[in-house]
Amino acid sequence: MLQLPVYLDNNATTPCDPEVLATMLPYFTQHFGNAASKHHTIGFTANAAVEVAREQTAHLIGAEPGEIVFTSGATEAINLALKGVYEMYNPKGNHIITSITEHKAVLDTCHHLEQMGAEVTYLPVDAAGRINLADLKNAIKPTTILISIMYANNEIGTLQPVRDISAIAREHSIIFFCDATQAVGKVPVDVNTDGIDLLALSAHKMYGPKGVGALYVRRKQPRVRLIAQMDGGGHEKGMRSGTLNVPGIVGLGKACEVAGQNMLDEGTQQQKLRDQLEHALLQLEGAYLNGSKVQRLPHVTNIAFKYVPGGALMAALSKTVAISAGSACTAGTNEPSYVLKAIGLGDEMAHASLRFGVGRFTSEEEIQFAITTITGTIATLRAESPLWELHKDGVEIDHEGWHHP
Ligand SMILES: *Cc1c(COP(=O)(O)O)cnc(C)c1O
Repeated sequence: MLQLPVYLDNNATTPCDPEVLATMLPYFTQHFGNAASKHHTIGFTANAAVEVAREQTAHLIGAEPGEIVFTSGATEAINLALKGVYEMYNPKGNHIITSITEHKAVLDTCHHLEQMGAEVTYLPVDAAGRINLADLKNAIKPTTILISIMYANNEIGTLQPVRDISAIAREHSIIFFCDATQAVGKVPVDVNTDGIDLLALSAHKMYGPKGVGALYVRRKQPRVRLIAQMDGGGHEKGMRSGTLNVPGIVGLGKACEVAGQNMLDEGTQQQKLRDQLEHALLQLEGAYLNGSKVQRLPHVTNIAFKYVPGGALMAALSKTVAISAGSACTAGTNEPSYVLKAIGLGDEMAHASLRFGVGRFTSEEEIQFAITTITGTIATLRAESPLWELHKDGVEIDHEGWHHP
């Protein structure tokens, strides 16, 4: 018997891998030490475990252990990167370039910096969700101190042309920060070959625990300097004070190790399941893929179902298939997704869109169940929908936004 709901929301969060949890558990009880306690073995044990995790985390992204700063997650890492760079380099310039499809953690931090005097350029994206490199070059000014572009989008999975972006940043000696929260552990990410100066990642998006993440800070060529955003005690080389979350950090390290070992096989397996799901759902009348079919994460798809009220579809599936709607999850508002709008969807198509994220523990049986359930639910909802009736009668109501290329 399948356990319901079938979980296809692995971009929102992933379950903690049992192997990761088992590695963490002794650090709550037996090895409960404070990693900053340098005068007894209980402290040494905790500190040693943190340093192993630092190596594991660094290794996954091709960094040095000394370049990893542990944080409470990607949101904190993003805040430290953007605010820390702005405060440090503000005398040199106040201009930041980012894109309109970044995660709210980046966009809201940029809005905050605008209040503090920063000038921010928000680059548009094409129908696939990618920025245009010519736009990026044109946006650069003598005052530009930072380019912040994500590795992979959390709603549609689009991969940005990271190496081209970093080459442009390098050419102009501008720091490049990359929110790689959705990419690390899913696709190969290497801060050197990718040319990344600052990178945010989060454990709970890669089968680790919630509430822990890291910021990578390049130490050489160039050495990136930051103003700390958390004072008190000088932990993490003064970049992030506060007693370290030892069990969480141990979990992050283990999650990185597991991801590094299995990434390519897992990607292939999840892509197969994703493609199976996507292929079946796109057979339905009025179903459209949002974003790019190629330049994207292997486990994500985002599909619009025309003539189906998105909210009703979500509600009808809530007990059987766990997925996300094309609406902002932020603070439970019902605004249509700004990412889907940015790639050209109107409000109604954005509202009628669903995001599916296959994961490490997704089975083929679950995908078959999801296909059958979603297909049936859409048929039921359409049978009750006046829009669908009109469509069947050959009357097209040309709502703004119901077009699709
Ligand atoms: C989840 C996510 C974040 C926020 O990560 P937390 O660790 O939950 O704070 C930031 N950026 C992207 C792209 C994400 O997917």
